[in-house]
Amino acid sequence: MARHSGYARFCYNFALSLYLGVKDLDASSSKKVAAIERVFTNHVKKLPQYQWTNTLSSRVYKTTFRHFGAALSRFFEGKSCFPKFKRKKDGDSFTVDAADWNHSILLKPQKSIKIPTLGTFRLKEAIPFPCMSQTFTISRTADKWYVSFTIKAQKIPPLFHPVVETVGIDLGVSTFATLSDGNYYESPQTLKKAKTKPSKEQWRNRHKQLGNRKLGVKASNNARKHYQRLAKIHAHSANQRRDFLQKTTTEISQKYASICIEDLNVSGMLANHKLASAICDCGFYEFRRQLEYKSVMYGTKVEVVDRWYPSSKTCSSCGHIQAMPLSERVFNCQHCGIAMNRDLNAAINLARQSGMSKTSSV
Ligand SMILES: [Zn+2]
Repeated sequence: MARHSGYARFCYNFALSLYLGVKDLDASSSKKVAAIERVFTNHVKKLPQYQWTNTLSSRVYKTTFRHFGAALSRFFEGKSCFPKFKRKKDGDSFTVDAADWNHSILLKPQKSIKIPTLGTFRLKEAIPFPCMSQTFTISRTADKWYVSFTIKAQKIPPLFHPVVETVGIDLGVSTFATLSDGNYYESPQTLKKAKTKPSKEQWRNRHKQLGNRKLGVKASNNARKHYQRLAKIHAHSANQRRDFLQKTTTEISQKYASICIEDLNVSGMLANHKLASAICDCGFYEFRRQLEYKSVMYGTKVEVVDRWYPSSKTCSSCGHIQAMPLSERVFNCQHCGIAMNRDLNAAINLARQSGMSKTSSV
């Protein structure tokens, strides 16, 4: 897998460097890419110093040139920057495909997968149902290799939601999401916990020769092992967070027919130093993004409330507005005397705002 990733990187950089040479010639970019691919197939692959390319899957360079062409068209459409050279430290990934749709692979529901031109591999998690696919992308995160592929399938949305009343959701640092019906979702790991493990790993290895490219110092073997352990720790907590967000947003989208959520003034919150690192890690943006795209899949109505609406400062019982410093976890109304959890109070207010906002998606 690592060799194939290296091959893909080599081909991409080859294509890019040759393209930079012919950039100003008068021809379409797709023609130039096709010409570059011909040079690679008919000339470069035959050179003795590039014989190693013939021991690896030929589908890798085919898909890599296709990716390079796609990167160029994205650039010309103004959707992205000009392609950059790939570096080893940016990670490993490559794509192989069956030559055409007629040769697509039937994936059986079992704990192994047959990947065109590479062979059959054991999987950690079984494929849940039989499906067909043509293109397979293999990538690495920390010390694990992943395969991803597209299948043709239709998602059937559920016919009804168990809860029809509008629910308000307040996002917070202490409790991740508080719902106006009293339910709440707690983050799987606190921010502090997520930070302790990598910090400990770094502190224990503080005397290792860590390497510095500018000074020409190479990292020691033990430092490299330390980097691998660190990558594993980071990947683990990222996986936990991703799993939590996906499960939570799916559960909410399936359960509630109508959702009201705050428009997050994230830049304003980031200006507050104490909140900044907490919010960066929470995935509030990702949470809202997932709710919005899942609303189409499950037929849920998602409304975004105007960011200037004082959801946490308003009393959900009498409408009295008072200052609420972040340290106060309980809303004690100075007008009607009600005492309520701060986040729950905000969530109830958000639910009431349903229908009053301008931005909404269905
Ligand atoms: Zn009140």
